[in-house]
Amino acid sequence: ARNGACRYKIASIPGDGIGIEVVEQTIKVLRAIEAVFNSFTLDIDTLDWSSKRYLEKGEYIPADGWQRLKASDAILFGAVGSPEVPDDVSLWNLILPLRKKLNQYINLRPIRILPGLSSPLKNCANGDLDWVIVRENSEGEYAGQGGTTHDDTPNTIANEVAVFTRVGIERTMRFAFEVARERPRRKLTMVTKSNAQRYGMVLWDKIFYEVAKEYPDVETDKMLVDAMAVRMVLKPNTLDTIVATNLHGDILSDLAAALAGSIGVASSSSLDPTRQNPSLFEPIHGSAPDIAGLGIANPVGTFWSAAEMLRWLGECAAADLLLRAIETVTANGAKTKDLGGMYNLAQVTEAVIVEVKRSF
Ligand code: ATP
Ligand code: MG
Repeated sequence: ARNGACRYKIASIPGDGIGIEVVEQTIKVLRAIEAVFNSFTLDIDTLDWSSKRYLEKGEYIPADGWQRLKASDAILFGAVGSPEVPDDVSLWNLILPLRKKLNQYINLRPIRILPGLSSPLKNCANGDLDWVIVRENSEGEYAGQGGTTHDDTPNTIANEVAVFTRVGIERTMRFAFEVARERPRRKLTMVTKSNAQRYGMVLWDKIFYEVAKEYPDVETDKMLVDAMAVRMVLKPNTLDTIVATNLHGDILSDLAAALAGSIGVASSSSLDPTRQNPSLFEPIHGSAPDIAGLGIANPVGTFWSAAEMLRWLGECAAADLLLRAIETVTANGAKTKDLGGMYNLAQVTEAVIVEVKRSF
């Protein structure tokens, strides 16, 4: 930790809807981990940055917000989104500014079928789907460049400009090759649409092959995004590490999470690999207003995110213990409704805490 030995400052942003519920339970699990290890301390600063705050005060992030975040070692995020706020407003006022200002240019999504869960795919056993998706997180189709003319007329024109830079692509490729190299299969599949998109995507292809030369021990493979969606469904066991643009990575990782059993179990890390800013850890699901407040949300995606956060902080034994505890609990059938189980949010949390204590 930057602030002395084994003391980590965590900024917690529960956000909206089920984000509030799953983060609350995750903090209980983190407290249990902290207690059994007794070798590190988590100082958790809970921030009320939410759509509720936006509706009351006209802002998600307060004036001193950036200072508070910059002073933290990691951010645990729930979800943002509310039926009363347009989705693009909440996204562009909270999560996208965070990614940009904190230089979180990589989004990392580990995806596998947890024990006790099953894929909606026929003939897909647990070991057949074990991927890591590396998504470019700072530019591309979500660069926010463009504009409209002739507004409110029949001739309105909207431009949405995708921006790709050599720097942005190269650092993403290097990160992806490093991830692939650490995994047993050492295989990296790059996704573009370079047949139809002639500039940015062609630059992706070019830089991929350039960087590949530095990693002769990693097997490379290139796919068009449409064919990739098909391959993920039909031949999941032929894939391992995947690198894709912001938009493609976003879509493919939701598909991947669904193929692995439920979007309720998957985690997403927005990383600043330079470590000059805190990285952010969140479940991939949203605020799920349809089940908010019912106490039935699946907390596993946020637990998994907390494990990834511990790993990023260097607490690998704690991260492994938490992941094993999650796996034991799902294997034993302690599952929420979205996974076909009978447990509620609090019961799954309790089961994980019991397992953390038992297996330490
Ligand atoms: P947002 O606008 O915040 O993205 P959303 O409703 O569009 O919210 P999700 O929150 O991702 O999108 O939810 C999609 C569906 O999946 C919803 O029907 C929701 O109930 C279900 N779901 C999402 N996350 C969970 C979870 N953790 N546990 C159980 N069900 C979930
Ligand atoms: Mg959504």
